[in-house]
Amino acid sequence: MKDASPIALIGHYINGQITAPSGEKTQPVFNPATGAQTGEVSLASVQTVDDAVAAAKAAFPKWSNTPPIRRARLMNNFLALVREHKDDLARAITVEHGKVFTDAQGEVERGIDIIEFACGIPQLLKGDYTEQVSTGMDNWTTRQALGVVAGITPFNFPVMVPMWMFPIAIAAGNTFILKPSPTDPSASLLYAGLMQKAGFPDGVFNVVQGDKVAVDALLGNDDVKAVSFVGSTPIANYIYEVGARHGKRVQALGGAKNHMLVMPDADMNKAADALIGAAFGSAGERCMAISVALLVGDAADKLMPVLNERAETLKVKNGLELDAEMGPIVTAAARDRIKGYIDSGVEEGADLLVDGRDYTVEGHEAGYFLGGTLFDNVTPDMKIYKEEIFGPVLSCVRVSNFAEGLQLINDHEFGNGVSLFTRDGNAAREFGKQVQVGMVGVNVPIPVPMAWHGFGGWKKSLFGDMHAYGEEGVRFYTKQKSIMQRWPESISEGAEFVMPTAK
Ligand code: NAD
Repeated sequence: MKDASPIALIGHYINGQITAPSGEKTQPVFNPATGAQTGEVSLASVQTVDDAVAAAKAAFPKWSNTPPIRRARLMNNFLALVREHKDDLARAITVEHGKVFTDAQGEVERGIDIIEFACGIPQLLKGDYTEQVSTGMDNWTTRQALGVVAGITPFNFPVMVPMWMFPIAIAAGNTFILKPSPTDPSASLLYAGLMQKAGFPDGVFNVVQGDKVAVDALLGNDDVKAVSFVGSTPIANYIYEVGARHGKRVQALGGAKNHMLVMPDADMNKAADALIGAAFGSAGERCMAISVALLVGDAADKLMPVLNERAETLKVKNGLELDAEMGPIVTAAARDRIKGYIDSGVEEGADLLVDGRDYTVEGHEAGYFLGGTLFDNVTPDMKIYKEEIFGPVLSCVRVSNFAEGLQLINDHEFGNGVSLFTRDGNAAREFGKQVQVGMVGVNVPIPVPMAWHGFGGWKKSLFGDMHAYGEEGVRFYTKQKSIMQRWPESISEGAEFVMPTAK
């Protein structure tokens, strides 16, 4: 089905120009709330990617040599523009991704946090210095930009996740190529326009739309020095392996299966609010969504009726309607995949308390909607427990005590986020210490770290050594150089044949 409005051609942004070379493959873009096609996105050929890399390479010497304070000032201009256009960006997210408008505004706000952090780059790049490491000799450490770096990002945060990457990379002196998800590509061109308006020179920030062809072209191009990836685990693994084989620095963030452990002493009302928001917000299409509730002892009997009632009465509608709590699923294929998981939960014997399959929204019959889905008595051998569903499905598992819950979390192959709801300080302390997960919340359902703390999971949720953004981000996008220096007055006569030591 096509919308009445004309179909927009969504191109690339290379060297300060929007381009969509004729003859390039394209892919349709849909509004998931209506099922209508709204755009057609170009899929970059190898040549287009090579052109973008060449533009970024040409821009690098001058940009990396620009004083950090001047780079930060341009980032400040960008910050002001993103604030000014926050609602335009949020709207672009909602009409291609489906998440509710207020949630999309929150996404942009979390992107803004990172831009603010990147504005502090002069302080972040300040090296260290030791006077007199040996008589008459000093030693200092600097961090220098890598060159052209690339970011490959998922559909579920078309603004925030790219902003985990490019503001820091660019402020640190690199030039950048973003390869966004072709499912919701329009926002990338909006902020590319804002980067241009902010005064960034052509070639410093580039966008190539595309699919595997573009990704492989970036991975195979020797002029791309580092790749940041966020997406599903199999692709993260692939990016990590292929990128490393080509000698690149790689950070690849993957999928998740986040648990919330609810102790019997928790405030049950607040735990229920937290579970409903974290499981069904953004239709569960968040890598920090809670998809498993581990209910300890009688917490289950207290919580299940409340969860049941709230899952049944979720306001599921077009995300542009301001009272919507949950919008559609991103694509028809994703909706069908999620339905398949619900079928498998039923087949494997879990109790389906609220069934979100076959959910329609009046006036939006062609939209990709599902209702909130709630399972009780899920067990760890079931597919709905083991695999990432990435949809509005909450699986409740009954456990007898804290230790059993903790063991289940630690045995799971993913380790992105986790949450504990309790009033017991010692349980909270032990949880923080023992849990094998990268981001931990205590009475916080979605513990997405703030801009200066850095984001990253453990186990199959992250391949690479460094987390995204924060100081880890600055380290990822820079390489360390150590300089030792002395002057002729401090150099003694004669060749030295022994290992130099401090004198
Ligand atoms: P995806 O892995 O399908 O796509 C991510 C990116 O990889 C996109 O740019 C896509 O075009 C590209 N890609 C897809 N298939 C490819 C292939 N075969 N070869 C090379 N490139 C390919 O992920 P998605 O569906 O867009 O996003 C959802 C996934 O992202 C979920 O698994 C979610 O948990 C994960 N995610 C993780 C985090 C995190 O921080 N850990 C954050 C957001 C999303």
